[in-house]
Amino acid sequence: MAAELWMPTVFDLSSGYPFTHDARAISVISGTDAFTTVIDTRDKKRCVVCGERGRSVLEHAHIVPRVEDETWEDLRHHGFIPLLAKSVQHEARNGVLLCKNHHGRFEDHEFYIRWVPEFQIFVLINHSRIEYMERFHGRAVNLDPDDPRTPFHGAFLIQEMRVRGRWPLLRDRQIPLPILWQIWVRHSDVDHSQAHHGDGEDKEDDRMGEGNDSTSDNSAMLSPTPTPQSPSDQPTSHDDPNTSKNFMTFTNPFANSVELDTLKRSFAVQPNWKASVMEGESWEGSAVDNIAKYRRHVPILNEDLNVMGNKE
Ligand SMILES: [Zn+2]
Repeated sequence: MAAELWMPTVFDLSSGYPFTHDARAISVISGTDAFTTVIDTRDKKRCVVCGERGRSVLEHAHIVPRVEDETWEDLRHHGFIPLLAKSVQHEARNGVLLCKNHHGRFEDHEFYIRWVPEFQIFVLINHSRIEYMERFHGRAVNLDPDDPRTPFHGAFLIQEMRVRGRWPLLRDRQIPLPILWQIWVRHSDVDHSQAHHGDGEDKEDDRMGEGNDSTSDNSAMLSPTPTPQSPSDQPTSHDDPNTSKNFMTFTNPFANSVELDTLKRSFAVQPNWKASVMEGESWEGSAVDNIAKYRRHVPILNEDLNVMGNKE
């Protein structure tokens, strides 16, 4: 079961906290300045979609609109984001750096960004099929899942549902595997061969690379290191009809309770979730107290504990 894969590391507080958190994440001051500063640093002052840089073209986009306190509250109480997340307006994990072009298209619901637990990356889906966005479709955006300040994975689901709502007649799209980075992102330290599934990759790269290689000096400044697993390690490749050897299809997560549950469980064990809990809670009690305290912030893990307890 998935629960058995990660639960021990989350709850082993007896020998100190099992999760590490970056001092940058907990030294964040509140307010708009912190929102923009954290995002600038985290996203390396580049649009996470196209890599565009420059103060005049970059904008700090809210994933869930900053006026939607009620949506944010719903996400908290249904386990899509931590209970202790900061406000919808000031939580940097509800923000992402985009150029004006992609910010506009994001808010126009042309595309969505989906977390892929199997590969630990965020992939862009051009659901609208708007021609300009095709070059970015099916590729991972430049967000580092290991950064404790990474956007809340669950926030993107709300934006996805709005994209789906805007284009209700369009069918879900297949994306080819392995999932590659956006063409401008050069991750020399990533071994994509681990996730190589077929012969179509080179041809796809040629098509995607046309006229889009103006940034050649960014390999050193980009650090996300996804850990694509081999196909044989992915249970979904055998069980999920939406995932085949060469393709993957993202369906409406709210129409598939199993998939939604898988996503929520993945959200709750990510470094950004843990960091949010660490920032918002006092940890002065005993290890036992802190274990109980931590569990309260990850309700979906408690469900697993209850299930396992009933089995024993
Ligand atoms: Zn852009």
